[in-house]
Amino acid sequence: MTAFVAPVEDILFSLRHVAEADRVADWDDSLAADILGHFAQFAEGVLAPLNAVGDAQGARLVDGRVRMPDGFGEAYEQLANGGWQGLRAPERFGGMDVSALVAAGVSEVFSGANHALQMVCGLVPGAIETLLHFGTAEQQALWIPRLASGEVLSTMCLTEAGAGSNLSAIQCRAVQNGTGWQLDGEKIFISGGDQDMSSGILHLVLARSGAVEDGLNGLSLFLCLAGEDVHVTRIEDKLGLHASPTCQLAFHNARAELVGAEGDGLRAMFTVMNHARLDVALQGVAHAARASQIATAYAQERVQGRRRDGSPARLSDHADVQRMLEEQDALANGARAMCHVAFVELEQGNRPDLVAFLTPLCKVFASEAGIRAADLGIQVLGGYGYLNEYQIGQVWRDARITAIYEGANGIHERSIATRGLKGPGADQFADLIRDLAGSSDRVLVRLEEWEGWRDRMRLADTAEHEAHAFAQATARLFFLACWAKCAGVADRHPDPARIMASAERAFSL
Ligand SMILES: Cc1cc2nc3c(=O)[nH]c(=O)nc-3n(C[C@H](O)[C@H](O)[C@H](O)COP(=O)(O)OP(=O)(O)OC[C@H]3O[C@@H](n4cnc5c(N)ncnc54)[C@H](O)[C@@H]3O)c2cc1C
Repeated sequence: MTAFVAPVEDILFSLRHVAEADRVADWDDSLAADILGHFAQFAEGVLAPLNAVGDAQGARLVDGRVRMPDGFGEAYEQLANGGWQGLRAPERFGGMDVSALVAAGVSEVFSGANHALQMVCGLVPGAIETLLHFGTAEQQALWIPRLASGEVLSTMCLTEAGAGSNLSAIQCRAVQNGTGWQLDGEKIFISGGDQDMSSGILHLVLARSGAVEDGLNGLSLFLCLAGEDVHVTRIEDKLGLHASPTCQLAFHNARAELVGAEGDGLRAMFTVMNHARLDVALQGVAHAARASQIATAYAQERVQGRRRDGSPARLSDHADVQRMLEEQDALANGARAMCHVAFVELEQGNRPDLVAFLTPLCKVFASEAGIRAADLGIQVLGGYGYLNEYQIGQVWRDARITAIYEGANGIHERSIATRGLKGPGADQFADLIRDLAGSSDRVLVRLEEWEGWRDRMRLADTAEHEAHAFAQATARLFFLACWAKCAGVADRHPDPARIMASAERAFSL
């Protein structure tokens, strides 16, 4: 097994030199390096060693309560005591109030070390942001300190048996009685719907407060504290993420509080979801980087075949293995750069339409990059890739969900090709590509072709039919523009030769 090493140098290179994090007002370079370094140590020493344990044991449902695998409770206690759950929360609520860019680096490292545990802990920053935007002063004062301290973990309850991609079919009812709101209905596939690590669980539930005919406008967002009125009726047996309990929850007249305005639930939930989507993109980056790490270490050790001079070769001496290793590295670093560029735009706050255009692109591209890099890793390891010994199979199994949850990739592709082309975001995207590309003709030529396609798509009646091809080409253009930028600043990386080799590989894909 290859020990997990957090890719801190690559993350800092991407933030500093590719995304130019110092354009964001609150960027503190040495603080960012400090925080990332500390979290990397914690992830390498505490979180990563539990990854295989969690995969083998899985979460279990015992007498109606979820039991996490061995060691997860203790690891969570250390995580909470270290203040990591409150990384993004304002200081007045007991948080550290660090930049979203630093939090992105931490989130990637967390997912690379232990995606399953990150799933259970990682919805808290989105919940805090939602409360800051839509919660009352009382709700903020009551819940944000508890979320930030780790006393309480949060969930995101949208999916129902008949409402997956189509949320307008949600049936879970919210009714008002004399004392407040009550929820009645079932939710499925709820990550961290129960666990035995935090003292409390705060469910953020999208429920129907209006009529069925109101569709999405009849949905409101509610806070519901786990208790006697919320039951875990099953946990799912899954391909991967065994340690992340995916719960079916039954709400029986469960007391709840409205967050934001009645009928405005989807807009409020989008705050959590947009955060979660970039986080899922970072999970893809984390898997690509981890797969690259496992495959590179193995290929440098394994003796197989001969070099041209007849001496014994390592796998990494073979051109075809080099191709696969370079592709993994190109996917990891390119997808990371895309996410960081999107985060910088988000933090600058000047071009919200561009951020809305970039977010699904990052989600689609990075999730598929993680799966592809894990698949290449299995190939590099040969027969050992198919065994559990080197954990590369777990990377693939854990990564696979990222293309499905937080909006299946097909749904995002449709929105990129339809809604995404209506506002100014797609034109701002072209400006961004020009900035990133600099004088790279290889990108500029592709950009010109893409602009023609974009304009045709805007007029097309059947844009949905071309959505997949168009969204994939758009994401690839963004990826290549990021690589042009990486290549231009490669001398700022501790290993410029590696960056240049991966840049060349990126353009050959
Ligand atoms: C491990 C795991 C964790 C999860 N965690 C959570 C969670 O914490 N909270 C939560 O609320 N949910 C969660 N989910 C649910 C997840 O978000 C849904 O599975 C996802 O949104 C897809 O919904 P679905 O499974 O019903 O698939 P469907 O909606 O049935 O989609 C199946 C396929 O059909 C395609 N499709 C569907 N509709 C259309 C259309 N109109 N046009 C074109 N293509 C379409 C989709 O792209 C997809 O490829 C989780 C799921 C899993 C497996």
